[in-house]
Amino acid sequence: MDSDSHPDLSSLLPPWSRRNLLRSVTLGSVGCLVTCPVGSLQAATSFDWKVVTHNDRDYVTMKDVATFYRFNRVERDGRHTWLRSPSLMLKVSTESDELYLNNVKFCLSYPVIEVDDKVLISRMDLAKLLDPVLRPTYIQSPIIFDTVVIDAGHGGQDSGAKGVTGWEKDYALDTALRLSKQVKAAGLKTKLTRDTDVFITRDERYRIANSTQKSIFISIHYNSIGGGGASGIETYALSPSGTASTDQPNRSTDGVQRSGNSRDSENIALATAVHAMVLFKLKCIDRGIRRARWTVLTGLERAGILFEGGFVTNPSECAKISTPDYREQLAGSVLGGILNYRKALLKRNGPAAKSATDGN
Ligand SMILES: [Zn+2]
Repeated sequence: MDSDSHPDLSSLLPPWSRRNLLRSVTLGSVGCLVTCPVGSLQAATSFDWKVVTHNDRDYVTMKDVATFYRFNRVERDGRHTWLRSPSLMLKVSTESDELYLNNVKFCLSYPVIEVDDKVLISRMDLAKLLDPVLRPTYIQSPIIFDTVVIDAGHGGQDSGAKGVTGWEKDYALDTALRLSKQVKAAGLKTKLTRDTDVFITRDERYRIANSTQKSIFISIHYNSIGGGGASGIETYALSPSGTASTDQPNRSTDGVQRSGNSRDSENIALATAVHAMVLFKLKCIDRGIRRARWTVLTGLERAGILFEGGFVTNPSECAKISTPDYREQLAGSVLGGILNYRKALLKRNGPAAKSATDGN
C-alpha cells in the first residue's frame, strides 16, 4: 500500500459528542476517498484486497478494511466488530445492514456476514459507501460546485405530510428559504426549485439542477408515520445500481443504471457531511443515512440528496419544527455540512480548483 492510499480522513464526520471524545473516536480526519470501484478494487491501489465470493456476491474482510484504512485496533465481541483508530471508530454487526462511523448510522446495501470466522462486508458497500466516505479526496472528477439548488419538497395541491401543527410543504419551503439565505451569506449561489406555495413536478425539480452548471441538489422534506411515535432525521442518497433501497425488497428495476448513479460517490459523501453535521449540531435522533430511488434523485446529473428533517407526525418533534428558530438552526446545520463537503472536494483539487470557483 503506498502512501497515497492513506486517506486524510476528511472532515465529513465532525466530532459530535463528549462521550465520543473521551473514547477517542472523534472525527478528525477520517479518510479520504479511496478509488476502488466495484470492478477494479485492486487497480486503484497497490493493496491486495482478498475478495471472498459468497452466494454469488463479492465481499472483503473487515481485517483488510482495517489494514487499508489504517485502523490500529480490531475488536470483536459476539456479533459485533469494532475498528478503531485515534480519530475514528467503525462498528459493524454480522447479519446486520447497519454500520456506524463515529456513531453516525449508515444503512448498508447488504448485511455484514461471517464466513469461516471472517467478518465480511460487501464489495459494493466498500466501493459505494465506505471508500467515498472515508476518502472523499479520492472521488473521481467531482463537480466543484458554486451553486446549491435547494428543493423545497411538495407545494401547491401537494401538501406533503399532515403534521400535528402544520403541513410538510410549508415547513419545507420555509427551511429552504432560510437555507438559501444562509448559503448566499456563505458566498455561494443558490437556486430554489420553488420559492412560493406552488406545485411543480418531480421531473422539473431535478431538471433545474441539471441545467445549473457547477451545482449540487438538496431536497428538503419532513417525515411522517402513522401512530406518531417515530422521530429523528434521515438522509437519502440514491441506491447504487443493482442494490435494493433501504428497508425495501428487491425490485426488478434495481439493476437499471440511473443518471444519478454517475454521482454515487459524491452523493454518499454529501449525504454524510450533511447528516453528520445536523446530528452534531442539533443532537437529534439518528435514523441513518439511507438509500432510495426517489425520482428527484434518479434523474439528477449532479450530486444530490434528500434530507428528512424530522417527523411532523411526532407531537414533540413537530413542536420544534414549527418554530422558526429551530428551522433556522436546521438550515444552518445543513449549510455546515455542505461547506464541509465542499472543503473536502477543494482539498482534493487544490488551490487551482479553489480559485476557479471562488468569487463566482
Ligand atoms: Zn416529503
